[in-house]
Amino acid sequence: MDFRFTDEQEFFRAQVRDAVDRLVRPRVAEIDARAEFPRDLWDEFARLGYFGLRHPEQYGGMGADTVTSMIFFEELARGACGFFMAVTVQMLMGTYFLGRFGSEAVRERVLVPAIRGEKIAAICFTESQSGSDLGGTRTSAVRDGDGWVLRGTKEWITNGPICDFATVVATTDPPAGLKGLSFFLVEQGMPGFSRGKPIGKLGAHGSVTGEVVLENVRVPGDHLLGEPGKGVSYLGDILNQVRVMTGLAACSIAQEAMRDAREYARRREAFGKTIAEYQLIREKFARFWATREAARTLLYRAAWMIDEKLDCLREAMAAKWLASEMCLRAVDDATRIYAGNAFSTEYPPERFFRDARFLLSGGGTHEVLLDYLGRAYLKEQG
Ligand SMILES: Cc1cc2nc3c(=O)[nH]c(=O)nc-3n(C[C@H](O)[C@H](O)[C@H](O)COP(=O)(O)OP(=O)(O)OC[C@H]3O[C@@H](n4cnc5c(N)ncnc54)[C@H](O)[C@@H]3O)c2cc1C
Repeated sequence: MDFRFTDEQEFFRAQVRDAVDRLVRPRVAEIDARAEFPRDLWDEFARLGYFGLRHPEQYGGMGADTVTSMIFFEELARGACGFFMAVTVQMLMGTYFLGRFGSEAVRERVLVPAIRGEKIAAICFTESQSGSDLGGTRTSAVRDGDGWVLRGTKEWITNGPICDFATVVATTDPPAGLKGLSFFLVEQGMPGFSRGKPIGKLGAHGSVTGEVVLENVRVPGDHLLGEPGKGVSYLGDILNQVRVMTGLAACSIAQEAMRDAREYARRREAFGKTIAEYQLIREKFARFWATREAARTLLYRAAWMIDEKLDCLREAMAAKWLASEMCLRAVDDATRIYAGNAFSTEYPPERFFRDARFLLSGGGTHEVLLDYLGRAYLKEQG
């Protein structure tokens, strides 16, 4: 067993860290306060070539393995949470199905500009009546000659209000529930395709979120991504990547919140000594350090298992849950360390506290993850 990253991976991490330190971190407070999509920052990151990390070199990508891509996500999450969300949708879910199933023409026309950052991607699952329960999807796709006609409204779509194209899950066989789901590419400019206004959000400012509306949008045959009715069977691999990516974001948010709280605890005095000298304050740092190490180790193990093509559904789910709960506890502890000052927007803890709430839905709600893990454990023999 060797838990070390390779020299190449360490070098890559240092490069990404430098880019995040130079380009993103100085703007974190501004991005949070403005709550707008920072297109200039997006363009700068696109120029660095990272958007194609997971895609083959022939389309302008880097063809990186899972562990390397997770290093990127972990470093990026040290910056602005909303920018992280916008970028990760572009790099993972928003372009995954194009890369896997898109025709050559679609890849050249849509995937290549997306890798260059010129076109913005969205992924559309959620509807007003169906979030965790994908089987409740009502957006429909009906065959029309050699194409399909899509109809429905998607909600809570990251990049939705600014997307140039979207991968949409729709039912091609409503009575079949989950077994009737299929993926389609829809593009801005197609008659009937429209984007909602950004909704106000608790945190993750800097990513814009809203509706994507499909009013009888006709798409050509090669916009069906994969086979009809097989959509759910394609999700395993990419959802595990999303879970690990989300867990590593949790590790980074927690790390930033606790590092900041540590500085505060070293400075702030009460009853004649710094608050860092009180055991009940130190306990918060000890718990953070121990639980983050444990979660992060399991996350990278799951990433390694994806690269080794090993089944890691349980590891990815458990790691995402552990890391997110660790983070929610850490950002809460940071507010306790700051006490009254945590309530002020002048100090960072309230931003970490708000941003971390996205972890509870991204990559699966914790009730759904735990329900699956509990059922899987109960089925085990011996
Ligand atoms: C910032 C942000 C960005 C997002 N971006 C996107 C995006 O880009 N694309 C997209 O498609 N969606 C996006 N979403 C939506 C997100 O995927 C959903 O919020 C998530 O799937 C959960 O669905 P829901 O909110 O409808 O909750 P529900 O599924 O309605 O769940 C409500 C509650 O019931 C619980 N519950 C549900 N089923 C079970 C069960 N079987 N057992 C036990 N408890 C259960 C849940 O855990 C939760 O506590 C985004 C959400 C946020 C907050």
